[in-house]
Amino acid sequence: MTDHTHADTLRTPIVAVLGHVDHGKTSLLDTIRGSAVSEGEAGAITQHIGATDIPLDTISGMAGELIDPSDFDLPGLLFIDTPGHHSFSTLRARGGALADIAVLVVDVNDGFQPQTEEAIDILRRTGTPFVVAANKVDTTPGWNPQDGEPIQRSMEAQSERAKSMLDENLYEIIGQLSDAGFSADLYWRVQDFQKNIGVVPLSALTGEGVPDLLTVLMGLSQRFMKEEMAIDVTGPGEGTVLEVKDERGFGATVDTVVYDGVIRNGDTIVVGGQNEPIVTEIRALLRPRPLAEIRTEKQFEKVGEIGAAAGVKIAAPDLDQAMAGAPVRVVRDRPEAEVVEEVKAELAEIEVETADN
Ligand code: GDP
Repeated sequence: MTDHTHADTLRTPIVAVLGHVDHGKTSLLDTIRGSAVSEGEAGAITQHIGATDIPLDTISGMAGELIDPSDFDLPGLLFIDTPGHHSFSTLRARGGALADIAVLVVDVNDGFQPQTEEAIDILRRTGTPFVVAANKVDTTPGWNPQDGEPIQRSMEAQSERAKSMLDENLYEIIGQLSDAGFSADLYWRVQDFQKNIGVVPLSALTGEGVPDLLTVLMGLSQRFMKEEMAIDVTGPGEGTVLEVKDERGFGATVDTVVYDGVIRNGDTIVVGGQNEPIVTEIRALLRPRPLAEIRTEKQFEKVGEIGAAAGVKIAAPDLDQAMAGAPVRVVRDRPEAEVVEEVKAELAEIEVETADN
């Protein structure tokens, strides 16, 4: 449990994007990043290891009339780069899902496909709130693209024929969601997002509907997750390994999403390993170097500490046996053995789940 007695701050909600292959996960993330950057302000996004942080100001710039930033006090959204589909199911955090909220991308022409069903099962099992991005609306025959516009405005610019073809596809998806046990509707018709799944028609190619997606994600987080986002920013860091990677000059490193507290260079950490928890000391905390400085050839820059929510590469001895999906815990004010036991218990839980599938 987070200790709410000191240094509470609201952290950024962690967003995962999932869906069937080729339905547009990568394109959607690229478009969100790209249109955030073209908002033009310094600090429009922060590139993390394995994630992108989009601050509220940038989201509000992108969403225009859809958002009033004074309605929000969460700092923005942290999108995790879409990991391999299988790894998503093991991306846990203290028994829950690592992602606080998810976007299920569905190709509006293809509808539900096997990996869509799998993704829905995972979302159901982990109790992760989600919205559906009904992607590729621009492929509707006769579509008149409205780049970057809110989707309802874009729909007003379509012919009756294009509109009704899109509607048909959208209701197909809403029906498939209902077959999967989720009552759903177009997001602007949803009154209670705790009971109904919002469907956001959009195009990762033209950006129409993307403002709506960001607005819905921000609204859901603010309304239903604010309490969970209150963390002690000075507490011992907790995170989940996205990937284990060899890096020249550093050896085995773990790309980690930090979801609570702070991780500092030199901290002793416990990391879930293939045989047993690994206890080691951090040699370097690495972030992507800002693009402007990329000519230095060094891909990463070292930072002294990193607070939740963030993606960071941890370099430390003995990480070869670390596992994707495994917990990372800073040992700070507690006995090391206690933290080792905690990590063991969490790993056991992950194994039981994987065996169940
Ligand atoms: P992923 O496998 O889910 O990451 O899918 P990708 O993002 O790689 O997209 C698969 C293909 O669909 C690529 O050729 C994309 O260019 C294309 N694509 C993705 N989103 C859209 C869209 O909104 N409209 C159109 N026309 N094509 C799209």
